[in-house]
Amino acid sequence: MHRFAIIAALLFTFIGIAPAQAQFNPFGGLQQQLDEQRRRMEQSLREMDAKSREMQDRMRNLPGTPFGNNNPPASAMADNEPEQTSGLRLSRGSITHSNGESVLVRDEEGNDVIGRLHVSVGETRVVLMPDGRLKTFSIDETRETDRPFVPMEMDAIEAKLLRDPKLAGFKTIRSRRFLYLYNSSELFIRSSRTILESMYPAVRRYFERSGIDVHEPELPLVVIAFATDEEFQEYRRMPSGVVAYYDSETNASLIYERSALSTHAPEIAVKNAISTIAHEGAHQILHNIGVQQRLSKWPLWLSEGLAEFYAPTSVQKGIRWSGLGSSNQLRMMEISRDWEDKKPRGSGSTIRRITSADELDSLDYAYAWGLIHMLSRRHQKELFACILDCSKRRPLEGIEGLSVPVESPSEMFTKHFGEDYGDTEQEMNKHLLSLNYVDPVKNQTHYLVISGSSVSLTSSPEMVKDLRRRSAGRFQVRTFPNRTLAERAMAAITR
Ligand SMILES: [Zn+2]
Repeated sequence: MHRFAIIAALLFTFIGIAPAQAQFNPFGGLQQQLDEQRRRMEQSLREMDAKSREMQDRMRNLPGTPFGNNNPPASAMADNEPEQTSGLRLSRGSITHSNGESVLVRDEEGNDVIGRLHVSVGETRVVLMPDGRLKTFSIDETRETDRPFVPMEMDAIEAKLLRDPKLAGFKTIRSRRFLYLYNSSELFIRSSRTILESMYPAVRRYFERSGIDVHEPELPLVVIAFATDEEFQEYRRMPSGVVAYYDSETNASLIYERSALSTHAPEIAVKNAISTIAHEGAHQILHNIGVQQRLSKWPLWLSEGLAEFYAPTSVQKGIRWSGLGSSNQLRMMEISRDWEDKKPRGSGSTIRRITSADELDSLDYAYAWGLIHMLSRRHQKELFACILDCSKRRPLEGIEGLSVPVESPSEMFTKHFGEDYGDTEQEMNKHLLSLNYVDPVKNQTHYLVISGSSVSLTSSPEMVKDLRRRSAGRFQVRTFPNRTLAERAMAAITR
């Protein structure tokens, strides 16, 4: 599932003080500009939310796009974009699950290839192609065969992807299981590779303990990293605000490196981008080692909570994966901000909301993470039983309009964890309070800027440049590792 940008209205700090110099303040209006900018960001966040809801509603109501908002393949919007030919188009009808039969089909380059039947619905067959994509065919375009399905090797998949004009000139690197195509920076792609490679064995071992019969990925795990949002959107249109996604149709993870955030909170932007790759990588790994079947519908609180559970990364002493179950500081920050607004009472309403939701906003992701973290530490046996239960869900099972109903997200929750939401929430809150938390925003590098008679504090290097441009007289910048030290220095100067 894609992760919506957690845009950083709150993530960068700026405090400007111009003691008793109001009329000569060279930054006159700067605070208003910042307030305005913040308002605009909040507005665009709201619009993004509305857009995503609208898209999800559209997808729910379209006969050809049955995924609701659970793992929508990137091209699930194909019906709205007729020029796009890669979407899964499904006819209505009854679902027949596959036993892994081989079928002879023609690929998009006109070659006869052996695919593996994934699922049939009505007159449509969804077929796993040798390159790892799922493609739909009508029944008369497929022929049964005894010849075995042979997945393509990494070399062949790389060559095929590079024939796509939108990826022309992309560089590639590999690790044992992952294939990366990128025009992002070397640092970004190498950090991603380090993170996914160290994550993979840990995730696999975790699920081995759950009793699921896990296996090595049959196909290379493809990651495509774009330098910018524009290129990412050019490759495949996504609702604005989507920063990355695992596409269960093509089996690739897609991400872009530079976000609007990088100018104002570069350290948070790097953290966010890197933990996003870990989040999408977790979805991708789960879909390839036998935990989650492609096109199967899981409760969001579980699938997103698990992806967040694996997402924590660290940028201290080099970018790296923080290890299984370490605390997710970006998510902790969201929860702690929420608790500043309203004291946690543990009424159970948060857990009830999250576990019944068909869509999650950024704060819900944070609580889904918190819930999974608590369950993993304190109720692991029940959590594993729940994951095992969901891992049996087959493609398209439970998709509204196509399949008979299955347990709802909240039924799946109460079946394994009981109906005492208040108890669970109190336990989660207590658990979260016991975790080590370092506010990532307050612990960014902060700059104290002395310009003429004004003193400002910011975490944004871009803001420092801006102040330098506006400065007429004396200009000095002092750098601090966190906000507390910078504030202390600021107080000393402005006292
Ligand atoms: Zn996700």
